This record gives sequence, structure tokens and C-alpha cells, in this order.
Amino acid sequence: MGARRNQTNAIIKEGMSTPLTANCFCGAVRIELTGEPVARANCHCGSCRDFYGTSMLSATAWPEQQVNVTEGATTRFPHPTKQLAQTFCVACGETVFGENRLNMRIVPNSLLARSTDGVLAADMQPTMHLYYRNRIIDVVDDLPKYLDGWDGPLHEG
Ligand SMILES: [Zn+2]
Ligand SMILES: [Zn+2]
Repeated sequence: MGARRNQTNAIIKEGMSTPLTANCFCGAVRIELTGEPVARANCHCGSCRDFYGTSMLSATAWPEQQVNVTEGATTRFPHPTKQLAQTFCVACGETVFGENRLNMRIVPNSLLARSTDGVLAADMQPTMHLYYRNRIIDVVDDLPKYLDGWDGPLHEG
């Protein structure tokens, strides 16, 4: 356990001096992340579920200028009716980031974990569940579970 903690600290220290980079599944697209995310969450809302095709979206949210594609060809797909978009690799189709209605860039935790040997760094771990009332999967952990947004009531029990 001590070794794991040291390893994680090393990743954090490295991240402070140089931008974090992550590649899509096939490796063609590279994104660069600078600074820190403004939010880290597991989102259970129906929009994320449908748009990203996942039971819950585990991701970090960043100001748009802090997430940039530095290599490879991407396509942007805007949601047909909502203020959401995804940017994905044209070769493998993996979403490298999404955009929400606040113009934040949403980076899936799967992508970040892969860039650090399959272990999601401590400073990228989710701190909460959002829209838990809309869940299709129950989660047992100690994180706060907001029924809606993080300014609203919590799920009890
Ligand atoms: Zn790819
Ligand atoms: Zn959501």
C-alpha cells in the first residue's frame, strides 16, 4: 500500500510541472490537459447516459482552454437538441472530451486512467455523484450522492 501511495504522489508531482497528456484508444489522438479540473464527478443524468452510452459518466470537467487536441484527427458531434457535444477520434471513435452547456470540457476517467497505467490518479478521483435520482445503477461508496445538482438535496441511506 505504501508503494501505491508513493507512485500516486509521483504522478501528482509530475503533473504539476508538465501538462498531463492522454491518448485515445488507438493512439492517433493526443490531448493535453493543463492545471486542475474544476469538478470531478460520477454523473447519473439521462443526458450523459444517452449521449455517452454509459450507465454513469465518470469524468472530470475543465475550462475549455485547459484541454487541447495536440495530435490526430477528430470530429465534433453536437447533440441534436441539447447544448452538448463530443469530440472523438475519427479512427477508433473514442470520445476524447465532451462539452456541456457551460462550455466546460468533459474528459472521461477511462481516458485519464489509461494515461497513468490504468490507475486513476488520486487528484482525478470523483468527489461526488450527481443526478443520483436518475440512476440506473446503484453505487455503494462514501461519496456524497446529490439527487440533482450539487447545490441540491442529498440521497439518504
Ligand atoms: Zn483513436
Ligand atoms: Zn450528466
